[in-house]
This record gives sequence, C-alpha cells and structure tokens, in this order.
Amino acid sequence: MIGRFLTELRAGRIVGVRTAARKVLVPPLEYDPATGEPVVADDFVEVGPAGTVREWTWVEEPRKNHPLDRPFAWALIRLDGADTSLVHAIDAPAKAMRTGLRVWPRWRHDRIGSITDIECFVPEVTTIVANVRTEYTVTPGAALKRYLDALTRNVFLAGRCSTCAAVYVPYRLSCPQCGSVIEDEVEVGPAGTVTTFAINNLPDPRAPQVPFVSAYILLDGADTPIIALLGSVAAGEVTEGMRVRAVFEGGTVKWFAPEREA
Ligand SMILES: [Zn+2]
Repeated sequence: MIGRFLTELRAGRIVGVRTAARKVLVPPLEYDPATGEPVVADDFVEVGPAGTVREWTWVEEPRKNHPLDRPFAWALIRLDGADTSLVHAIDAPAKAMRTGLRVWPRWRHDRIGSITDIECFVPEVTTIVANVRTEYTVTPGAALKRYLDALTRNVFLAGRCSTCAAVYVPYRLSCPQCGSVIEDEVEVGPAGTVTTFAINNLPDPRAPQVPFVSAYILLDGADTPIIALLGSVAAGEVTEGMRVRAVFEGGTVKWFAPEREA
C-alpha cells in the first residue's frame, strides 16, 4: 500500500486509496481507521497536490533531523480530494500560519520514492504586490518643443502638409504619409470629439479619480487624434462622439471636460 504511494511520489503525484465506504485515505492505509476493515489496494486516486491546513504547530528551533533548518510549522494538511490529513512541514513565516491556509507542495528535483520527495509545503500565492516607479525626463526635439511652447499659451499647435492637406497634432516637421516637409503651422481645438476611450481602474496621480477615463480626442481642425484624460465626468457617462474641451492648468492640458450645452 505505502509502496504505491512512494512510487507515485517519485513521479511527482500524490495518491490516496478509496475505502469500501468511499473515503479517500492519504497516505493510503492497509485498514480503514474508522471501521478497522481491510482496504483493497486497487482503488488508488490522485489527490491534491494543493490542500488546506487543518491543524498546525510552530517549531521555533528546528533540530538537526528536521526537514528545514529555519523556523517552520508541522501541519495536518487535508489535500484536495482526500478525507484524511497528511502530516508535513510548511515553510512559511509564523505570521502567515493559520487554520485554513491553502498550501502547495514544493517537490525535490531528485526524487527517490520517499515522503521527503516533497521537501515541504508552501502557502499558495494568490497575489503579488510589486510597487514599481519609473521617472522619465524627456528632451523634446525641435517640433515637440514648438508644440509644448504653444501649449503654455493654451494653444494646440498642428502642422498641415501642403501636399496631402492632412493636419497633424502634435505639430511635426514631416508628413508621415507622403514624406513632405511640413511648413504650415495651424492651431486646432481646443474643443474636440471623443473617438474612443478606456476606463482605467488603477489610480494615476494625474487623474481626477478612480475609475477614470483616458480617451482619443480628435481636436477640431485636426486629422489625427491625441490621447488625454477626461475630467468632470463620471466614467460611466463617457460616450464615443462626446464633445469635449481642453482644461488648461499650469502651462499644459490638465484634462478634457465635457463641453457645456450652449
Ligand atoms: Zn503629406
């Protein structure tokens, strides 16, 4: 009975045996602990490999023959699909230990068919918190500098291609369609139309609230949309085709707000 259990461990599987009463014993036993009836060794079922901590005790100072050389917990683990609990070590901080904790086995790579093929169990990872911050310093080129300078005067500067008549915002020096040098400067906006938008649920220090909306806005007189935040409107009320107008603050665009009905 236990031989099959250990052989399966070597293959990276945990099995139990089903009794006549349809209970799954893990590890498998020769006799049903509830009735004392012999268990027929032919109804093995795979369980886990994850399980739930039913009881646990903390080992602050591991001994030489313990499976881990740092503080750990001994626990009774009820593997998914099993009706009895397995004793094993849990590698987790003391403050993470609790009854009901979900755990997964950490397997050894060189397995030999021993209970120690499972090095220990570890808490199930359900979330990862990674705070990442990156700061950029952008040095604008000649065209972007002109555009940003115009923004400080609350003006959107665009460039019109004299060959294909397309109007590009932000202002640029060459036409992406025909390659012509752009010489005509035109002002566009400050009102425009939402062409498409996204509702964002992660906070952004520039945004009015969460959720907030970022949108592609086709400024009046332009042929290309710009991306910008929307403010003064609930996320659920934004629609494609909505008329919006730029709100300037501190020499740049704070966001776009719905245009008031005249
Ligand atoms: Zn062109």
